Amino acid sequence: MATKFSDELQSDVTPNDVNLDLIAQGVRLILEGLGEDPERAGLQETPRRVAEMFSELTSGMREDPKTHVVPLPGDKHDEMVIVKDISIASLCEHHLAPFVGKCHIAYIPKDGRILGISKLARLAETFSRRLQLQERLTTDIANTLYEGLKPIGVMVVIEAEHTCMTLRGVRKSGASTVTSAVLGGFRTDPRTRAEAMALITGRK
Ligand SMILES: [Zn+2]
Repeated sequence: MATKFSDELQSDVTPNDVNLDLIAQGVRLILEGLGEDPERAGLQETPRRVAEMFSELTSGMREDPKTHVVPLPGDKHDEMVIVKDISIASLCEHHLAPFVGKCHIAYIPKDGRILGISKLARLAETFSRRLQLQERLTTDIANTLYEGLKPIGVMVVIEAEHTCMTLRGVRKSGASTVTSAVLGGFRTDPRTRAEAMALITGRK
């Protein structure tokens, strides 16, 4: 499914382009492939439930993330802003398995432009509710914030546990994957970057 972004703040993606029936048919096939009887009582509603779950977990595909990057009118701040521990739940596009974790966003405002804290969380949520790779999720959030708010620098760090890795395959339970995206002033100034990283990880 194509996710289309407009250059305007208004989203032009239609909210109803999920075909729940088609997903449900696919889930039914999975059940049959597993040798299950999709008609037995416990499974009758499963295809519909799973279809609705996938629709919800990919709702960010039908949202324009740029709508969340609107500077707060009137409020000005010039020091580094860090929002830590934004919970994220996403779907690994290789396995359609969830990966869950925390997203930390740091930025240095330019000309006082800041974003509401809830908008940062919404930005992380819109991008995480898609079929994703953690690496792309991290850079998508960073790039959209950098382009939309035009701050001096942006840093995004995501720590997540991938169930496709911890529940199957190598089964490294609790293993977490850390990714970061660093733009602008954070990239050019190692001291500022180190300061932000220390604040994010709680280490000095
Ligand atoms: Zn995976």
